[in-house]
Order: sequence, then structure tokens, then C-alpha cells
Amino acid sequence: MARPRRKRCVSGLPMVEGFKPVGIPMKELSTVTLLFEEYEAIRLCDYLGLRQEEAAAMMKVSRPTLTRVYEKARRTVATAFAEGKAMIIEGGDYQTEGDWSRCPRCRRAVSGSQHIAKCGLCETSENKKST
Ligand SMILES: [Zn+2]
Repeated sequence: MARPRRKRCVSGLPMVEGFKPVGIPMKELSTVTLLFEEYEAIRLCDYLGLRQEEAAAMMKVSRPTLTRVYEKARRTVATAFAEGKAMIIEGGDYQTEGDWSRCPRCRRAVSGSQHIAKCGLCETSENKKST
């Protein structure tokens, strides 16, 4: 019997659903997909500067698995940059710590399972504009 694949732990959803090149309408772009666990590997290794051993422990995977996920992630990001593609962050084989949902207004990720009308983030920016 095959060993069941362990889910990769990600601490939360990425802040945005994806990235696109400046000045080109979405409908004219082709896209690449960055999986949630690939996003998390880049966030841990490159943004937070963790060593791969540490990132692997955070995601509860083996070091070779982390390396594989991380290298695929960097190839995907590099492809988007070099070929001018949009990058959508979705899918994968992952679990999050706690519940996350997306603000229906600004589409940013917020923690919590309850259905939210809007998050604190877009509320905050609105307050700034009005003062
Ligand atoms: Zn919001």
C-alpha cells in the first residue's frame, strides 16, 4: 500500500490571489499557477530567510520534499517574470493552521471561519482616505 501523502502545512492563505504584469488586461495574459505550498516555501525561505531545514519543519515535510516544492515554486515565479505571465496562487496539497477566508471586498485573506462582510484592512484604508 502506498504511503499516504502528508499534507503540507501553510500558515495561512497568501494576502492576494495572484499577480499580473502591469498594463496588460487579464484576458490578454496567459497564466501560471503557483500552489499554496509553493507560495509558502518561497515565503519561508526567501521572505523570512529561513534555512530549508527550518522551512521543512514549519511545513511538516521532509527536507527533500521542501527542496522539491521550493525549486518548483522558483521556476514558476521565474517563468511568470521572464515570459510576462500572470501568476495565480491556488490549489495544492496543503492544510492551513486555523480557518481562513477572503474578504469579499478587497479579496485579502483574513483568519477566522465566520462569514465576514469586510475585513479590517479595507476598512482601515477607507478611514485613512476620509480623514
Ligand atoms: Zn477587505
